[in-house]
Amino acid sequence: MKNRLDVIKPAVRSLRAYSLTPHRAQVKINQNENPWDTPLAIREEVLQRFETRKWSRYPDFMPASLHEQLAEFAGLRPDHIIAGNGSNELIQAVLMVTIGHGKRVLISEPTFALYKQVATVLGGTVESASLTSSLHYNTDLLLSIVEERQPDVTIICSPNNPSGCSIEDRELIKLLNVARGLVVIDEAYHEFADHSVVPLLEEYDNLVVLRTFSKAMALAALRVGYLLASPDLVREIRKAVLPYNLNPFSQTAAEVAVERYESDLRPLVNRIIDERERLFWELAKIRGLVPVPSRANFMVVKSEIEPKVVFEELLQRDVLIRDVSGYPMLKHYFRVSVGRPEENDELLAGLREICDE
Ligand code: PMP
Repeated sequence: MKNRLDVIKPAVRSLRAYSLTPHRAQVKINQNENPWDTPLAIREEVLQRFETRKWSRYPDFMPASLHEQLAEFAGLRPDHIIAGNGSNELIQAVLMVTIGHGKRVLISEPTFALYKQVATVLGGTVESASLTSSLHYNTDLLLSIVEERQPDVTIICSPNNPSGCSIEDRELIKLLNVARGLVVIDEAYHEFADHSVVPLLEEYDNLVVLRTFSKAMALAALRVGYLLASPDLVREIRKAVLPYNLNPFSQTAAEVAVERYESDLRPLVNRIIDERERLFWELAKIRGLVPVPSRANFMVVKSEIEPKVVFEELLQRDVLIRDVSGYPMLKHYFRVSVGRPEENDELLAGLREICDE
């Protein structure tokens, strides 16, 4: 009898599943979330707006009011926007309309694992350019691969998860000028770098930008992300997005978060940026640790002690970090998100104990 798994594409069979073991700890700094919960003013406003909403009725086919708000927020028109059920859904949508057998995706490594995962499931070939030894984008290498091989899609995460490096606008512009395929910039962490490539959308219609509400916007549980691109690309990418993809509760929360970003969320982002700098300098003082400068709300740290051991030891002290030693180039590294000041103090105290033992 035919093995039922024979029907699964060989490329999928040989993929390792993208998953995360659900450890629990008091100090949770493993997923680059906003360490402060959603501000109360936002939570209350969302609940109030939702009170009169009929739960028996379908939501909007497309979340038009959110598209309008996001357009204003980003300085574009609504036909440049698709809101999705997390930016993960939009990564998938872009790749679904572009990638299949014989199509090529270019990524850098190490980077966010989902790009490779989805492109491979869709039957595409993934090529990668390593970061430099100091964990920066190797823009010369990226440029030469794009010029010579013209991938259908090039994905750059900026700031990059997990290394924290960003691509400079002038380097991105060189890529956009030579690329005949799409160039996707995943800006999941752009608020922490205080920089966005969205203004480049006016000039470059092969640019696609992804953003999320899961980090600076403090709404990871509600799964909202959005994509910005030229209207003709948006029309095509929308074909891969399921109707009613955004539930109305999440839509309302995203709308309120946008309205209250400056007053309620930006101050938290600024505190995270300050804490990132403090954490960096304190980590640098600990024997055997070398933190890597980051423009995001996390950083990787090179460790003389095996990252797996550091992970286990910290977990025993109720601190949950991410062991990224399985990523290319990061055999000796772990990653920490920037927590609240007292959480960072607990992390630092734990690391001092572990490293000085
Ligand atoms: N892009 C990057 C670079 C990420 O790190 C993450 C989450 N870790 C995502 C996208 C996914 O975001 P969302 O929660 O919006 O699906």
